[in-house]
Amino acid sequence: MPDLLASLLDLVLAPVCLACDGVIAPGDTARLVCRGCRSRLRPLPPPVCPRCGAPRLRTGREPEPTCGECVAWPAALRAARSACLLAPPADRLVHQLKYRGWRALAEPLAERMAAVALPPDVERETGIVIPVPTTATRRRERGYNQAEVLARAYARRTRRDPRNLLQRRGAASTQTILQPAARGANVAGAFRLARGVERDVRGAHLLLVDDVLTTGATAAECARTLVAAGARAASIVTFARALDVHRLTAT
Ligand SMILES: [Zn+2]
Ligand SMILES: [Zn+2]
Repeated sequence: MPDLLASLLDLVLAPVCLACDGVIAPGDTARLVCRGCRSRLRPLPPPVCPRCGAPRLRTGREPEPTCGECVAWPAALRAARSACLLAPPADRLVHQLKYRGWRALAEPLAERMAAVALPPDVERETGIVIPVPTTATRRRERGYNQAEVLARAYARRTRRDPRNLLQRRGAASTQTILQPAARGANVAGAFRLARGVERDVRGAHLLLVDDVLTTGATAAECARTLVAAGARAASIVTFARALDVHRLTAT
């Protein structure tokens, strides 16, 4: 397209940032999230737990030998990593992807996820990417599962194979309204293996994908289901990580 026409179109159809509602500057190649908002996405501040990727508390002493975030995770859930903290503007982007129908956001979000270094064994051993499934009802309401569009975009960027190997049973109450202790109970038995995929799972280290990781209860339950079906382990990569802000500001 000639440059002049492109600039005219940009004026008429000036793309608006899905995080801040600001007009995306001409010349910015991104169409969905402006440069400013992209630069405000905060990676998890190091040092992080080698297993779950959560920032370790900086107490001025030696780091605690156990990490409070993942100490209760089952062995089936090997590791977790996230592209950024669930803080502005990441929270708004997650909301737009999840509830406002902006499935095209999966591409820039997956791009950030693909840039996250996985622990070496996870990087080496995982070939299949599995979206954390949602209920059939919720999928119908929204028209898609945000974890699935993220998983597909992430898999393509990291040359893995996206597969829906897990299914979610029945209607679970919305996780966000539950306290952490209730979350584990809420997802117990929530997942099952899809039909006819036992061979793909057996002996494999599988990589789960979701939009947000909070307590890890959902990921742990997916991992338990996969290991019960013969997998060796599961790890998870998400776009955002929800953490207690007090934890992050404590120094
Ligand atoms: Zn913006
Ligand atoms: Zn940890």
